[in-house]
Amino acid sequence: MEYNIALIPGDGIGPEVVAEATKVLDKVCEKYGHTFHYTSLLMGGASIDVHGVPLTDETIETARKSDAVLMGSIGGNAATSPWYKLEPSKRPEAGLLKLRKSLGLFANLRPAYLYEELKGACPLKEEISDKGFDMMIMRELTGGLYFGEHKTEKVDGLDTAVDILTYNEEEVRRIAIRGFDIAMKRRKRVTSVDKANVLDSSRLWRKVVTEVAKDYPEVTLEHMLVDNCAMQLVKDPAQFDVILTENMFGDILSDEASMVTGSIGMLSSASLNETKFGLYEPSGGSAPDIAGKNIANPIATILSAAMLLRYSLDLDSEADAVEEAVKTVLRNGYRTGDIFSEGCKKVSTSEMGDLIAAAV
Ligand code: NAD
Repeated sequence: MEYNIALIPGDGIGPEVVAEATKVLDKVCEKYGHTFHYTSLLMGGASIDVHGVPLTDETIETARKSDAVLMGSIGGNAATSPWYKLEPSKRPEAGLLKLRKSLGLFANLRPAYLYEELKGACPLKEEISDKGFDMMIMRELTGGLYFGEHKTEKVDGLDTAVDILTYNEEEVRRIAIRGFDIAMKRRKRVTSVDKANVLDSSRLWRKVVTEVAKDYPEVTLEHMLVDNCAMQLVKDPAQFDVILTENMFGDILSDEASMVTGSIGMLSSASLNETKFGLYEPSGGSAPDIAGKNIANPIATILSAAMLLRYSLDLDSEADAVEEAVKTVLRNGYRTGDIFSEGCKKVSTSEMGDLIAAAV
């Protein structure tokens, strides 16, 4: 089969890790007889440097016309980069928010999986990490607090800031349906996370999720308050399968879940709309501290490419092959610096890409 894939290498380590992911995708093409046509696009700081804005309309249109987008990451060091002297709407991150909104990417998926070989990197007590965990955080991405009205004004002579958190029932329903669909392909358990004891938006969230659950009798639904969920993630992460939550709670919880795996360089993510289209990217940022040194871990981006194969192209066997190749390389003791431990073989970004491509 032939597919069009838009690549957004971005800034920092982005171009390095995307190059390794395409190396692995090319190997998949060779083995399974597919053809991927890549179009490379600018976004973030790389786009500011060329066009003066973090995202152009042409980039949005080309991304929209592709079957899927594979991204590295965008942004630089906020303290030193000239990009952060620009007004907020012209900074690198504004490009990503606009792209997500323009493409209607309302569902963000972030798996947090503890690899047997990397248990030593898990910061939790051994008695907890020994049980392992394998969860999927499903975060609503285009509504809620980050997309409501923001303003700062003088009220009674005092600087006063307001951020508005809005959800309508349709926004909740579509993400809930996605969450339950994903749970059906997994262990059939959804934990819906909210703050229904305080927030109206959470009470609506809980009501709509409960309604949607009726269409999925095989899936067990549990509601959990966000503060409790933050505790449970470090106390007993094995209990979770799919965590379904709104934008800001998901932002925070997915980072927490990432950290309990102990290795940001391993974590993939997908952002989906109502069709098969999706944007796939590592969960970490552009890591300006290690950019250009060929030491970044490309596995998160390679696993994001595996998600692309699975969710946008329906190439499940090919996705399995990539995920298995990652496990094989780890089992054989190869590690980039961020996940290195005594007795393993340290490899560079490009060597890790070569090894995984060869194992596919
Ligand atoms: P970061 O994730 O870039 O880096 C945090 C730490 O993790 C650093 O020490 C970094 O070296 C390390 N790290 C991250 N990815 C790694 C990898 N693949 N291999 C090895 N080590 C890795 O977070 P930050 O420093 O807070 O942010 C840097 C920039 O990235 C900022 O401009 C931020 O806005 C941006 N950012 C972008 C995205 C995105 O593009 N979606 C997401 C998060 C942050």
